[in-house]
Amino acid sequence: MSTIHLSLIAQDRIVYDDDVKMVILPGASGAIGVLAKHAPLMAVLQPGEILVRNDGEEDRYFSVGGGFAEVRPDEVVVLARSAESAEEIDIARAEEAMRRAQEYLGGPEKDRDMERRLAMESALRRSLTRMKVARKRAAVRSRSADHTPYRQAQQEEE
Ligand code: ATP
Repeated sequence: MSTIHLSLIAQDRIVYDDDVKMVILPGASGAIGVLAKHAPLMAVLQPGEILVRNDGEEDRYFSVGGGFAEVRPDEVVVLARSAESAEEIDIARAEEAMRRAQEYLGGPEKDRDMERRLAMESALRRSLTRMKVARKRAAVRSRSADHTPYRQAQQEEE
């Protein structure tokens, strides 16, 4: 199996560091799928989901709060503003962050401070991504419990 090394690095820690078959990154202008021997590129990432696929294993999901990726034929390095694996995400915390951001963005304060408004919009995107990634994992788990073949279930979802 041809693999590529993925390092997913957040500000305070290394979140993932291993060989993978494929990784899909949330590029600022769309999803970027990377396999071994990919052409070199640098990309800005938006807040979104990273999917990691390995042969014979369940797909793994990470939320990323934006950042940069450097792709080389044998390596992908992601420098993330923040990143969490699906297993690490605290849904209640993400919901609370979403509520805070929505409250601010729905109120009169939003037109008084552009910098704060942009920060809140970004916080809202991070919280929504975290909830999506955490719930996707929960959905995968419950399908596994039903003994539905994982690939089949994923195709049905798409
Ligand atoms: P909050 O307002 O809840 O702190 P935030 O989006 O402002 O959310 P970040 O600045 O992106 O938080 O992240 C700060 C740290 O907290 C990072 O290490 C990040 O991985 C972690 N983190 C933030 N939200 C969650 C969450 N819902 N579950 C797990 N870890 C989280």
